[in-house]
Amino acid sequence: MSDEIHKVGVLGAGQMGAGIAQVLAQHGRQVVLGDVSLDAAQVGKAGISKRLDKAVAKGKIDGSVRDAALSLITPTAAVSGFETVDLAIEAASEDIELKKKLMRQLDEVCPPRAILATNTSSISITLLGAATMRPAQVIGMHFMNPVPVMKLVEIIRGLPTDDSTHARTVALAEAVGKTVITSADSPGFIVNRILIPLINEAAFALQEGLGTAEDIDTGAKLGLNHPMGPLELADLIGLDTCLAIADVLHQQLGDDKYRAPNVMRMHVAAGWLGRKTQRGFYNYAEETRR
Ligand code: NAD
Repeated sequence: MSDEIHKVGVLGAGQMGAGIAQVLAQHGRQVVLGDVSLDAAQVGKAGISKRLDKAVAKGKIDGSVRDAALSLITPTAAVSGFETVDLAIEAASEDIELKKKLMRQLDEVCPPRAILATNTSSISITLLGAATMRPAQVIGMHFMNPVPVMKLVEIIRGLPTDDSTHARTVALAEAVGKTVITSADSPGFIVNRILIPLINEAAFALQEGLGTAEDIDTGAKLGLNHPMGPLELADLIGLDTCLAIADVLHQQLGDDKYRAPNVMRMHVAAGWLGRKTQRGFYNYAEETRR
């Protein structure tokens, strides 16, 4: 393999971590997939298995491709098994203190040569790197959702990130079929700096009663030629994640234009996080029943 990354540890087996593990395994990388418990990691792997079964049923991939990918993914509790990885990707919830703690943990367990990447949507790579003893080997590797479908990986260099870490991470992303852009380390990087104000504005429009969620999303889809409306995209991302990103943008860029609307904060407080909890700006439980 040209990128020399054979074994990857993915920490966090939610929608992003599981998607990243799937794509890596489908490109022949060995993956240890960790979460808070072995059970949680196994739930992540079960989701991958279900997605690959669907792809086989639709004739998109062969059964042998599914089996080979699944055989390369080992669910694990926390960072057990990360002692031999070439690169680790932190993909746990978007929380600064949690991510600092996990980066420290990865630094303690992973081999000295290993790259420590994070899939954070908004948190400073320099800050996360400073939580480790190897800031030159810390980098942002921001996959898009759903990972198996979306072509882009946004790579973010922290201030101390060295050229070799950048080159090896870009090579891995390209080797698993992705197109790379590189962003400087600034809150939200490039993609979420553009996306989150759009989602916030759509939610303000909803809050102010300009139209229904369907009106707003249809406006963006048919009026702006967006493949998804901003509110349905927010539900896909997770409203907790959108709110966490908006708060980082608002606090760190210090401009009120990034403030999150109350309607989003209240949905998160109610536990209506979007598709992952069956309810967000839309009600997916009803959709399943229909
Ligand atoms: P998610 O809620 O689906 O999954 C988060 C996972 O982290 C859960 O499985 C949770 O159990 C696990 N976790 C929490 N604490 C942990 C710990 N101490 N150790 C190990 N695992 C722990 O969230 P997600 O959508 O997969 O987002 C994960 C990361 O990816 C976030 O940083 C988010 O900003 C980023 N991201 C999300 C999207 C998106 O569209 N959802 C896109 C790009 C990047």
